[in-house]
Amino acid sequence: MSTGHVALVGGGPAPSELITVRGRELLTAADVVVADRLGPRGLLDELGADVEVVEVGKEPGRQSATQDEINELLVDRVRAGRRVVRLKGGDPYVLGRGGEEREHCRAHGVDVEVVPGITSASAVPAAAGIPLTHRGLARGFTVITGHEDLDVVPRSAQHTLVILMGVSTLPRVSRQLMADGHDPETPVGVVESGGTEAQRVTLGRLHSIAETAAQRQVANPAVIVVGQVVTLADDWTDETTGATTPPRPASDTKDGHRP
Ligand code: SAH
Repeated sequence: MSTGHVALVGGGPAPSELITVRGRELLTAADVVVADRLGPRGLLDELGADVEVVEVGKEPGRQSATQDEINELLVDRVRAGRRVVRLKGGDPYVLGRGGEEREHCRAHGVDVEVVPGITSASAVPAAAGIPLTHRGLARGFTVITGHEDLDVVPRSAQHTLVILMGVSTLPRVSRQLMADGHDPETPVGVVESGGTEAQRVTLGRLHSIAETAAQRQVANPAVIVVGQVVTLADDWTDETTGATTPPRPASDTKDGHRP
């Protein structure tokens, strides 16, 4: 009987420390690691020389494995009795096609352990000081790619929109949101390479962020946050944007946590 095993491991957004203990354990015991371009790439250097590392990450301008090839690779290796870790950036089930990989394995009689990861959708804004919900500023959030239709996004001023894979579509997306009735003054933050030494934050408003991002040559990977919570970003100042940060709700100052 085969001793093979497949685990879909969420590796977190980039800093190696953000992988879970279970994810790390599986990685240490793996015979084969199928890796994305994003995620805790530093951990690959710690693998033994006998571990097969298969790079399947999508890199602009370079040929990458198709989803079908990745699916087949997982089944092929586990059938050969190997312990396979499919190491994914962030969380496998947040815009990561983890569900498809699991379905494919199960359709071929292969059980899959899924290890959640810290998604870049929350961790990357957090690295810039931006919470996704905050009393008085946002009660909920939507995570979407820059390639989807945006009419599903709630128009409430107290809702945060998080856009992944959205750098190239930012001009269209910001125009579309305004056309859909989102306030052009809505604060927007773009966080590149969140949590790494290369992290850079670009702040602005919905009506001007596309131009600012183009001037600064903002590049992938980046998470775009649209909503009042962006005013909590470490680098947000009224001067740089020419606008006023909304006052904090009175309850924040009454409960004794803030002076
Ligand atoms: N499943 C992943 C998302 C995969 S889509 C997750 O849960 O995080 C890839 C997108 O994630 C990138 O285009 C970018 O928008 C975002 N991303 C991942 N890591 C990032 C990082 N360190 N900094 C900024 N954006 C990141």
